[in-house]
Amino acid sequence: MEYSANKMKKNLDDNNFNFKKKYGQNFIVDKNVIHSIIKKSDIDKETLVIEIGPGAGSLTSELGKIAKNVIAYEIDETLKPILKQNITPNTQVIYGDFLKQDVLKDIKNYNYQKLYVVANLPYYITTPIIIKLIEDEIPVDKIVVMVQKEVGDRFKATPGSKSYNSLSIFLNYYFEVKKLIDVSRNVFIPKPNVDSIVVSFTKRDKKIPLKNKEIFFKLVKDSFKQKRKTLKNNLKEYDLSKIEKVLEKHNLNLTVRAENLSIEIFAEIANEL
Ligand code: SAH
Repeated sequence: MEYSANKMKKNLDDNNFNFKKKYGQNFIVDKNVIHSIIKKSDIDKETLVIEIGPGAGSLTSELGKIAKNVIAYEIDETLKPILKQNITPNTQVIYGDFLKQDVLKDIKNYNYQKLYVVANLPYYITTPIIIKLIEDEIPVDKIVVMVQKEVGDRFKATPGSKSYNSLSIFLNYYFEVKKLIDVSRNVFIPKPNVDSIVVSFTKRDKKIPLKNKEIFFKLVKDSFKQKRKTLKNNLKEYDLSKIEKVLEKHNLNLTVRAENLSIEIFAEIANEL
């Protein structure tokens, strides 16, 4: 299929397809954008790609041409006849909610050097998906997601910025987060109200050394419990003297707020607890 808006529309019309808002359906119709996403993702013939939400398959068909295999999870079964026309033979489509899938089982029979996840998704599902990939221990090397611009900014957030929160730390512990490209709202049908960006999460080979991951993540979560409060107030049940000692090394004290602490300082504190 060629990626003109008209052809895509015709294909969808011929199949009586109705866009469903609840599934965040905005399909890309610009081949250049598709190619630059793929190029920046450095997918090759050794890569197994998991695509979440293939839609009409515009990205899926191009992924199929350059990856070893593609497994695409699509929640909307009415896309079946359309997707069938657009995918390459090395692509398997699994219909259902990605969040409920046993992905480890689905990838078991594939051989690959690298495992990538690629998705253009509604913002409300992006975070649960990344958390699922981490919690289910899916051995992903890279996640490439297209999200609304503000959501992407949150993933990239650094200490002191407004959207820095415990999720930013959680994600940055596992992945190096990088913005790949800006995508105009004009390349989608229907046209969304906002522009998007494509962000990549590359698995860190060298993670920050932690004595105990659970303690670290609990500390981070508790520290952000009430964002406007100081560490002293959010961490009342902790041994504050130990925390103070670490903070002093960085010329800080217990009146600091979590939003001003780097992931490294959190790690240092957690390792003392
Ligand atoms: N990737 C396509 C479509 C993007 S629209 C493109 O870029 O053109 C988002 C797609 O995600 C839709 O097809 C929608 O049906 C699907 N989707 C939404 N929630 C999903 C979920 N929980 N699991 C799997 N697919 C989902």
